[in-house]
This record gives sequence, C-alpha cells and structure tokens, in this order.
Amino acid sequence: MRSLFSNNFLNLIVMKKVLQYLFLFILIGYSTYFVYQNSRSFCDRTIEYSIGRFDTQFGVSESEFKIYIEESEKVWEKALGRDVFVYKPGADFKINLIYDERQVTTIQKQKTEFGLFAVEEAFRNLDSRFNLFKDEYDNKVSAYEQRLSVFNERKSDYDKKVALWNDKGGAPEGVYRDLEAERIYLNAESQKLNSEVMSMNSMARELNTLLEERNLKAAEYNNIAKSYNKKYGEGLEFNQAEYKSNSSFTREEEINVYQFGNKKDLILALSHEFGHALGMDHTENPKSIMYYLTGINAEVSPNLSAEDLVELNRVCEI
Ligand SMILES: [Zn+2]
Repeated sequence: MRSLFSNNFLNLIVMKKVLQYLFLFILIGYSTYFVYQNSRSFCDRTIEYSIGRFDTQFGVSESEFKIYIEESEKVWEKALGRDVFVYKPGADFKINLIYDERQVTTIQKQKTEFGLFAVEEAFRNLDSRFNLFKDEYDNKVSAYEQRLSVFNERKSDYDKKVALWNDKGGAPEGVYRDLEAERIYLNAESQKLNSEVMSMNSMARELNTLLEERNLKAAEYNNIAKSYNKKYGEGLEFNQAEYKSNSSFTREEEINVYQFGNKKDLILALSHEFGHALGMDHTENPKSIMYYLTGINAEVSPNLSAEDLVELNRVCEI
C-alpha cells in the first residue's frame, strides 16, 4: 500500500505484513511422504496479471493503463534480469482501477493548487511591478529633493542680496541686472519644481493603486491557502493503491489503484504495489519506491534506491 500525504504531514501506517509460503507436498507410496519447501525463491515465479475492474473516469484508456503497468514492471524486471510480470487476459491476479471519492478529492485538490499557483504568479507580477515603480518614484523624489535644496540655497542667497541692497536704498545697475536675471531663473525653476511635485503626486497615486492591487492579491492568496490547508493540510491521507493477497493456497491477488495525480504518479504507485507482490516490505527512505508515503507528483525517481535493493535482495536473494 502506498499512501498519499499533503503538506509534509506524515502519518504512520501500520502495515500488515503479507506472509507468503509455498510448500510442495509429494506423497510417495502410502506410508511415507516427503515435504519439500519450494527451493525456488518466491521471486522466481512469473506473475501473470489481467485487468479487472476498470473505471473510465480517470481519463485513461485501458490500453494506456496497460502501457503504464508495463512501464511500472521494468524497475523490478531490470533488477531481477527477467520478465517477472506478464499480462495475460483472464489471469487471476487482477489490477483494478477504481474511481471513487478519493480521486475526486485528488482532482479538487489539484484544481485548488493550480488556482493557488495562478494567484501566486499574479501576486509576484504585481509585486515586481510595484517594486520597479517604487524605485522609479524614490529616484525621482531624491532627485527632486536635491534640486529643491539647490533652489532653496540660491533663493536664500538672492533674498539676502535683495534685502542688503534695499537697506542701502538700491542696487547699482549691473548688480540690479544680475539680481533680476536670478529672479527670473528662480521663478522658472520654482515652476519646474512645482510641476515635478505634481508629476510625483500622480505617480504616488498610481503607486498606491498598484499597492492596493498587490495587497488584495496577497489577501486572496492567503485566503485560498488557508482554506486549502484547512481542507487538505492536516492528517489527510488516502490509500493511493493497495496490494491484496490471500495467504492461503488458493492465492488470490489483486492490486487496486484509487488515486493518482499524473502518469508518473500512477506508474510509481504500480511499481510500489508490484514490489509488495514480490513480497517486499516498506523502506524508510522517502526516495524509495517502497517508501510508504507519496505525494501527488512526488519527485521519486523511477529507479531503485539502495534501500529498495536491500529489500529486493532480502526477498529475492539476488
Ligand atoms: Zn505499500
């Protein structure tokens, strides 16, 4: 069995170990019998499977499903160096694809995640636009302040000179002309500074609108994330797939698949259950195929981990 988890919230699942014994009884004569334990390893058998229940709501066709199953066998067959799992129509070992509320939840969860990604992207876009524009505004303000301080200095210089000459009852012609030129310059500069203030104010208004939009987007994201976490964040765990076996002599085996996020996810779940069919238990490495948990879109490589190999070696004595 492989379970799904979300938000790294881990629940430990107690697994029932499936014990599989194969005995061969040979009766010789009528008073003596010999019991042989099958000398072949459990892994020496060829596992013939067929497709049992097949629900179409997953959006996967039966022939695609068969291809994915074949894909999922490879990881074990490569390690064992032979064809272990063989598709045979009508075989007792059934692989069932069962659509129920688990997959419905998976799809809803994925939709919410896509929505969340879209809102996050919109937020990042607004945030970077805001930051760029804010930089531009800040540069403009600091240039303005510098220009204003130059203006104030010249203006105060001019005022002092005018007061000085007025005290003296008037300025000589040359000085008067210079002061008049300065007055005209100061007036023009003051108008330019005022129009700069107006342009900065309009920038500030745009900036505030952008900030408001950005904050609304952030709030929207937080709301969706909050409800997502409430709905899927804690303790949510499903059984993505399971391998079931009867330990009696009339072996009945099946694999049920209930949930998957994408093709890779499905193949991984099937590989995991085939591992159980070989008699393997769970491993502790989250990167293992035989790890007991998975996330949808889990980034587990389709290769065996060192722990998987140890476990395979234990049951198959390779
Ligand atoms: Zn398992």
